[in-house]
Amino acid sequence: MDHYENRKFKRYLGYFLILSSILIFWKIMTIEKDNGLLIGDLKDRLRIYQYKLHLTPQQMILLNMLENDKHLDDMPFIYAITPTYYRYVQKAELTKISQTLMLVPNIHWIVVEDSEEKTALVTNLIAESGLKVTHLTAKTPPFEKLKAKDPRWKRHRGVEQRNKGLSWLRSNMQLGKDKGYVYFMDDDNTYSIKLFSEIMKIKKVGVWPVGLVGGFSVETPVLNRETGKVESYKSGWKPQRPFAIDMAGFALSLDLILAKPYANFSYKMDKGFQESQFLSYFTTKEELEPLADNCTKVYVWHTRTENPVVRAEVKGYEV
Ligand code: UDP
Ligand code: MN
Repeated sequence: MDHYENRKFKRYLGYFLILSSILIFWKIMTIEKDNGLLIGDLKDRLRIYQYKLHLTPQQMILLNMLENDKHLDDMPFIYAITPTYYRYVQKAELTKISQTLMLVPNIHWIVVEDSEEKTALVTNLIAESGLKVTHLTAKTPPFEKLKAKDPRWKRHRGVEQRNKGLSWLRSNMQLGKDKGYVYFMDDDNTYSIKLFSEIMKIKKVGVWPVGLVGGFSVETPVLNRETGKVESYKSGWKPQRPFAIDMAGFALSLDLILAKPYANFSYKMDKGFQESQFLSYFTTKEELEPLADNCTKVYVWHTRTENPVVRAEVKGYEV
């Protein structure tokens, strides 16, 4: 190949490369446009059929996010920490709350079993739920375990498990980077999905009424009429506690949990003071953020399931 031919070859090669780049670019553009059209079409159809599909309020939030082109990745998680232990009603309780959580789009469920090892019952239930779950174990030491005949207030319950959940968050989440909310969600309470929309309004610590607790039909923070801030508490038991709030009656930002790594539950806390002493690490009464329509609505109930008398175990069924 002489000098002239060589230059010619290089020129053609140049043309070829430019032309193929344009072609590839054009192809990519049309693919993007097709996808855009497809998603647009899907959104329209979802809107039209929202009533027939029985979309939940939570699914509507998702739909709105899609419409506003907000990314799901920007949606902070609600980390719900659930202590749970084996008894006849465990599967029923976990079925109930896992199916509530299925209606909430941004849940990260932290299930902490009070056992040496993960049980098949809980493992299978979690797998079937399709939820985003972290499954942990933390056994309550025998000296703290409630005996069958003991009154419930005699021992702290869920201490080991909640602390395990907190420590998982602290070793897997990063302050300043991961955003979210932390809620202690006992396995036997009853939760409205409306509660989770309230939790997403929290800046530091949010509070709300809890139904059927402490001998009251409802326990609630009492707001000052002028400031709209928490002034005192209506509570069936020691309303003078710094925070007379049940475990189900508050949630806090993940930032706070990560910023105060020493703040945990403890057996040393006075009986019935777990919530109050835990909250004292993070906030003051004046700072509390009243939610659920200025603490006028009940979205969670401190229900307790009766221990059933089982006279015979029917073989072949997992209850
Ligand atoms: N719990 C536990 N181990 C126990 C007793 C309770 O992990 O030995 C869990 C239970 O599943 C629940 C939470 O701790 O999620 C609070 O327990 P419980 O509902 O009995 O307390 P109460 O409602 O009476 O305060
Ligand atoms: Mn309970």
